[in-house]
Formats: sequence, C-alpha cells, structure tokens
Amino acid sequence: MTDSSRAAANRKAREERKKAHLRGIMDRYTERFRAAGDRDAPSVAREAHIAIDELLARDRKKDASSSAIRCGKGCDRCCHGPVEIWPQEAALLVEFARAAGMELDQARLERQGRYTADTWRQQPAADRACGFLGGDGACTVYEFRPNACRKLLVVSDPALCDAEKHPPDGIGRWFSWEAELMESAALEVFGAALMPRLLLAALNRGEREDIR
Ligand code: SF4
Repeated sequence: MTDSSRAAANRKAREERKKAHLRGIMDRYTERFRAAGDRDAPSVAREAHIAIDELLARDRKKDASSSAIRCGKGCDRCCHGPVEIWPQEAALLVEFARAAGMELDQARLERQGRYTADTWRQQPAADRACGFLGGDGACTVYEFRPNACRKLLVVSDPALCDAEKHPPDGIGRWFSWEAELMESAALEVFGAALMPRLLLAALNRGEREDIR
C-alpha cells in the first residue's frame, strides 16, 4: 500500500467512524423521544428544552469559537421568519400563555398559517413576526421558547440576519452537532410544522377540553 492510499484509507475509516457516531446519537434521541411520546405533552417539551440548553452550554464551553456568538436580547431579526416546531412545544407555549394571561392573536395565527417556509416572506411585513415577539424586540416566552429558537446562534454581524436585505447564506452560525441531531430526532418522532399551525391546533384542543 502506498503512503497516499494508506492516508486515503485512514481518512475513509475516520469518516465512517464519525458517521457511525452521529448515527448513534440520532438513534439514542429517537428512542428517547419515542419512549416519551405518550406522556403529558408540555412536560415532554420542557424536558427536551432543559436537555438542549445543557447540551448547548456544554458544547459552548468546549469550543472557544462560541465566544463569537452575537445573539442577545432585543436582537429579533430571526423572529420574523418561519419557525418549525413540534406539537408538544406548541402545547407548552399555549399552557404558559394561558397561565400568564397572554392573549394569542388567533386571527393573525390563521393568516400566518396559510404560509409555508417557502412563502413566508410573501406575507405583509406586519404579519411576519412571531406572535410572541414583544414590542421591545424581546421574546415574551423566553423560558418556554422552542428548540429551534434555542439552537439558532449566530456569529456573523446581526444585520446579516435581516432576510429582507441579505441572502441567508451570508449568515455564520455556531452550532452543536448533538443539539442539531437531538432536534432532528424530535421533529422526526413528533412531527414538524410551522409554529402558527401548531399553536392553533393546541389552542383548539385546549378549548375542546375546556368544554367537556
Ligand atoms: S418564540 Fe421567541 S425567540 Fe422564538 S421566534 Fe418567537 S419571539 Fe422569537
């Protein structure tokens, strides 16, 4: 075997090991979410949120490049785009909103619910923002925000996150492989949809239960 073919074989073996490692992580989360599927929806979401926060904190600590993350309170450009969540997250958000006496704008959710991730930007600008975005640019459900919001961490100039002015491929992200895999497993096991549709479904489910 020549030196170059040995190097290529080693590289291939490393790639295979990495793929198997990532597949193992995905399988572990898939199993975990399948096992949790029948439990009380808000608590399933709450546990997953705590778990992803711990993962992100662990991986940020291990990776010095995470110190370049620019996201912060009041930086809300990503809250004007489509956000994909899973039903248990919607149940948790509705439960929190009700407990906090927050009024969800159902008419706006219905309008937003007609759009997909691809057509989201065709809405009137006033409708594009997440219904939980406060007037000061802060998230009003921060403790209960979905995983999609927790793991979206940007290291490029926040101005580039403005999808009206800049293409998405200009945004630099810091990410944790494990957090990405965990969220992929949750979306696959529980089913994914954009936040307005799942919030409406959770609101309607809650109303039906109140009537009974
Ligand atoms: S839930 Fe909060 S962080 Fe997520 S898009 Fe809405 S306002 Fe932004």
